[in-house]
Amino acid sequence: APAPAPGRHLFSDPAEVEALRRNLLAWYDRCKRDLPWRALAAAEPDADRRGYAVWVSEIMLQQTQVATVIDYYTRWMQKWPTLQALAQASLEEVNELWAGLGYYSRGKRLQEAARKVVSELAGRMPRTAEELQKLLPGVGRYTAGAIASISYGQATGVVDGNVIRVLCRLRCIGADSSSPAVIDRLWDMANVLVDRSRPGDFNQALMELGATVCVPKSPLCGECPVKQYCQAWRRKLFGKATPVPDVEDCGVGDCPLCPPATEPWDSSLGVTNFPRKAAKKRPRAMRTATCVLERRGCHGAPEYLIVQRPSSGLLAGLWEFPSLPLAQDLQEEKEKEELADHLQAWMGQPVAAKELQFIGEVIHIFSHIHQTYVVYSLHLDGDVTLDPALSPSRWVTEDEFHASAVSTAMKKV
Ligand code: SF4
Repeated sequence: APAPAPGRHLFSDPAEVEALRRNLLAWYDRCKRDLPWRALAAAEPDADRRGYAVWVSEIMLQQTQVATVIDYYTRWMQKWPTLQALAQASLEEVNELWAGLGYYSRGKRLQEAARKVVSELAGRMPRTAEELQKLLPGVGRYTAGAIASISYGQATGVVDGNVIRVLCRLRCIGADSSSPAVIDRLWDMANVLVDRSRPGDFNQALMELGATVCVPKSPLCGECPVKQYCQAWRRKLFGKATPVPDVEDCGVGDCPLCPPATEPWDSSLGVTNFPRKAAKKRPRAMRTATCVLERRGCHGAPEYLIVQRPSSGLLAGLWEFPSLPLAQDLQEEKEKEELADHLQAWMGQPVAAKELQFIGEVIHIFSHIHQTYVVYSLHLDGDVTLDPALSPSRWVTEDEFHASAVSTAMKKV
């Protein structure tokens, strides 16, 4: 069991907690951003519809900026305003609407979960964080807490990236903020802090503070509504003249929440000493050859062949130009030969490597993969009979390509 957290990292003074809640909520009421999911949730009297509206927004907002999500969210809710409507959609339609938003399995799992609510729970959303997490695929602890507090008023805290940053600064938590021990403590804190009468607003306020004021690089501490309760801010104002390892401040030898003794407070960083993360793993490098096959369509306009990816794994079910992962450090000639063989299997007729025209390279960063697409093109004169035993494929015009469920990486290609 982890050692108990020393008092300086806790919110143990009820008067301070009450004042912090009051200040944060008053600031939120004054300054919150006008966002479509907030307006929808506030105006929706039906509890299941309200839960669904919040759920969709929370799934879209995972790993994606608010500004990007707004348009996708608005189109999604117009197309599928209820769980029942989403449950009836096809995966292809879901992928088409999701195209460009990234992390594509999110849309698929959202739809699977909607089908489950309709078919197994009689269309009724679970009402507590515990049930939401247990019963809905793709709904983790954070999303469950957000839906339950915002839609159903359950007094339960939430911890996302913004909350981690704010809490670590408020309480000078400098141990690795991605470690399970620290994350557990932060959940405890979030559950202590959450306002009992306005839990949804409080959670959104804490996240809003992280998104707009207590931002990663240059936080606006002067404008912060809770600065008088922030230990990092106090430390910055009244910090010691010489750097002293934080571990000494706790009066214990190995505080599980202080920065490691080898990384003491750096006065040039101020409050951005917190949070601290273990160094990120380097993304894996991958090279993929991809071929834009072009033919004249029946109306003379060019058409391009796209094929569907497998239904699991990276970019599951999305469409792409025929592509082939390559070993690193292959010579260009060898790359072309391998791609030609791959295309031959698709088209059932020989493809000469020398006909493939090298166009250039496109780099796309997925969360954990540094992907280089080596792009070739090939113009076809006659018609081609595609092998129906292989993955689904189709010829599309440029406009149809853009309306298809294709990833941002393929649009770059
Ligand atoms: Fe964040 Fe600064 Fe506010 Fe502390 S005072 S919570 S560091 S913005």
